[in-house]
Amino acid sequence: MKYQLEKTSKKHPCPNCGYKRFVRFIDDNNLYLDTKFGRCDRQESCGYFYSPYHEKATFNQRPKIMDAQTLKYVPLETLKATLKNYHNNTLINFLNNTFGRRKTLKAIADYYIGTARNGGTIFWQIDKHKNIRTAKRMFYKTDGHRNKQLPDRYLYTSDKGYQTCLFGEHLLAENNKIVAIVESEKTAIICSIQYPEITWLASSGLEGLTVRKMKALIGKEVLLVPDFSTHARERWQHKAEYLLQHNMKAVLWDPYPEIVDGRDIADLF
Ligand SMILES: [Zn+2]
Repeated sequence: MKYQLEKTSKKHPCPNCGYKRFVRFIDDNNLYLDTKFGRCDRQESCGYFYSPYHEKATFNQRPKIMDAQTLKYVPLETLKATLKNYHNNTLINFLNNTFGRRKTLKAIADYYIGTARNGGTIFWQIDKHKNIRTAKRMFYKTDGHRNKQLPDRYLYTSDKGYQTCLFGEHLLAENNKIVAIVESEKTAIICSIQYPEITWLASSGLEGLTVRKMKALIGKEVLLVPDFSTHARERWQHKAEYLLQHNMKAVLWDPYPEIVDGRDIADLF
């Protein structure tokens, strides 16, 4: 039996770096050998090569898998302890009054919305593997607008080994709906009530739409829904182009281009 690298342009996930740039070995009958045998196209950065004629694989270096090894996650019990006292939660009271109890309860369940002291709301960031990454605490006024006298705060920070993700990312694992991203957590929640046929995520701020966070969306159709200001539109248009270059399909969705007063889509409901 003789073996050779497959000559078609077909690429597979590399066992070393994970990128789909791996050419596999086939035998005389055009059957694949074990997935470990092959050559990675990324010769500079990965360089994985394992021939069936060799004793072991060679490669430039192991990719950094720091994330999986060093990232810290919040225990589920900690999250659960915040899922209470909704009568003291100013944002939840606003949602109840605006959209009714049934829809609000569904939103609480979908996004694991928690309650902080002093009427605050806790937005948990849970990734698509259901790891609890961090939480953002925010305060609202009874009209649903932010109470900027009480500052937002991440409760688990990167200097302690935690990492942010898109708010609502955990919802991606459950369906194949189109994904839309807005800036604010509150907006994502309200839009999920109004447009349940779309999965709504939040970037947690204008500059929160990073390539690292967006990687969770590879393979999805993504709409970026900027706030209604020229600056936000320009920033996210730029971001959409950048994401396209990184093989992520993201397009700007701007349903009301004539509005430039800084409101966002949820303010129109
Ligand atoms: Zn590789």
